Amino acid sequence: MTTSSPEQDQDAAAVEWDLAPLVDGGGDQAVASMLEEAERRAADFARAYAGQVAEFDADRLREAAAELAAISELVGRAGSYAMLRFSANTEDPATGALLQAAQERGAAIETKLLFFDLEWQALPDDRAEELLQDEGLEFVAHHLRVSRRLGPHRLSEPEERVVTEFRVTGRSAWSRLFEEQVAAIQVPLDGSTGLEEALSRLFSADRDERRSAAEAITEGFRPGLRTRAYIFNTLLQDKATEDRLRGFPHWLAARNIDNEASDESVEALVQAVRGRYEIARRWYRLKARILGVDKLADYDRNASVSATEDLMDWPTARDLVLDTYRSFSSTVGDVVARFFDERWIDAPPRPGKRSGAFSASTVPSVHPYVMLNWTGKRRDALVLAHELGHGVHQALAADRGVFHQNTPLTVAETASVFGETLTFGRLLDQSPDAASRLSLLAESIEGSIATVFRQVAMHTFEDAVHSERRTCGELPPDRFGELWAQSQEELFGDSVEVTEGYRSWWSYVHHFTSAPGYVYAYAYGQLLALSVYQRYVDEGESFVPSYVEMLSAGGSLAPEELGRMVGVDLTDPGFWNAGLDLVERQLDEAERAAVEAGAVA
Ligand SMILES: [Zn+2]
Repeated sequence: MTTSSPEQDQDAAAVEWDLAPLVDGGGDQAVASMLEEAERRAADFARAYAGQVAEFDADRLREAAAELAAISELVGRAGSYAMLRFSANTEDPATGALLQAAQERGAAIETKLLFFDLEWQALPDDRAEELLQDEGLEFVAHHLRVSRRLGPHRLSEPEERVVTEFRVTGRSAWSRLFEEQVAAIQVPLDGSTGLEEALSRLFSADRDERRSAAEAITEGFRPGLRTRAYIFNTLLQDKATEDRLRGFPHWLAARNIDNEASDESVEALVQAVRGRYEIARRWYRLKARILGVDKLADYDRNASVSATEDLMDWPTARDLVLDTYRSFSSTVGDVVARFFDERWIDAPPRPGKRSGAFSASTVPSVHPYVMLNWTGKRRDALVLAHELGHGVHQALAADRGVFHQNTPLTVAETASVFGETLTFGRLLDQSPDAASRLSLLAESIEGSIATVFRQVAMHTFEDAVHSERRTCGELPPDRFGELWAQSQEELFGDSVEVTEGYRSWWSYVHHFTSAPGYVYAYAYGQLLALSVYQRYVDEGESFVPSYVEMLSAGGSLAPEELGRMVGVDLTDPGFWNAGLDLVERQLDEAERAAVEAGAVA
């Protein structure tokens, strides 16, 4: 740990990408020539195969899929290069134009290839399965199976066309109206403020400021509440109708298929988390003591618990993260070293650079790139470990090829959260005192509450409104508030007071209207990673090879099959509880640290 100021962190300033491998050193001009080649090959592809997929034997399917992979590599290289150039400097009109051109041409190429998926999906099940038995098709088999999964729920072609055309003025229009309504919300605070700014006041250390911000937000929610409730009602029914026409057995079925998550595993997750809400309540009770109040109110949940922030310089963080990954596994450590040695990382914040952090898998024939906005805070080391986890996963899975390198959302956080948790343990051990430990633990526990507990509570609310719309008809605006309050009170128990005003706070969440059933995936991904980590804690060294093998499988298998590779069963609530045990242990530690630091009476 050092206390150098972020501005002095010269070491981080020099950490920039080398994007040349994506374009073979050809620069921006190479983007156009790669897309030209892809366009030409896509046209040839359509000439060679359109209208013929039904007659394919395994050899021809393999040949076609290999050509598709090659085209997709070209588009992916060009698109990744343009996207990364833009991320590094969004203010340069040239990078914006490059990205726009790459996206437009990419979409045009995709359109030319669309027939393949449609014809493939139209094949009878037994014929498709027979073809996929061929060993030479391993590089594409799972992808082709997944693309057929919605098959039984597809309508006839003319019906699909009608649905697609009317969606623009139906579901999409309603969803956009909701967003516009939310974007227009004005909060009566300092005269009038936007919603984002008002919400950020809830992090204030001053309780009066938090309370008045919350009251003002509730006030700001009032004017369009009936309209937003009506939009939500309409979208609930729109979904019920489409689910009925497509023969989905329940409101979440389509989403689960999309996530490659079985109904059983989602049920096991939700059941496990709801059964352990006491973890979140214990934290809120501790937080009340730290903040010096009898009991938290809903507007206190985000208040920051520590005033100071520990710092760390780039070389220290680099050595820490590298050493952490190396001590876990030399295979993984070697991959991580390449990110540092071969300029796969772009670290410093710069004017015009995109905010946040990510790891872009790009294409299997090149390598992933990690973007950070390194500010020299200790928590940045955890972000570095997190993104490198994604990067390692993507790099190890590159051998699976373009169809199977990436995983569905539900397992995409496995390696990132795993690596972050490893590094977190190191940071905790190195913390100089109890106050420093407490701030680290607080951040981690609140992260788990936000991604696991809160998302499951939101999911419970969604489940209630979808079910009620289907059985009882349109919901009165107040009913949304009641069901929202119920789902939140179930989570908080007696640990947080849910104010009357908080009842309308369901009404600005885009996910509910734009992506029904989406929110549980956050909990699924995070807790899956923590539970797999717990497996490592229990098993030790012998766990490592199977874990590396699982990462190397990328998205070539369904999540539950990937789980089996490391000996876990995603349909068993006990599996999910293992990750929750880990959060509970952090809570025990936080309680001890709070007492030791004199943060509580
Ligand atoms: Zn992530």
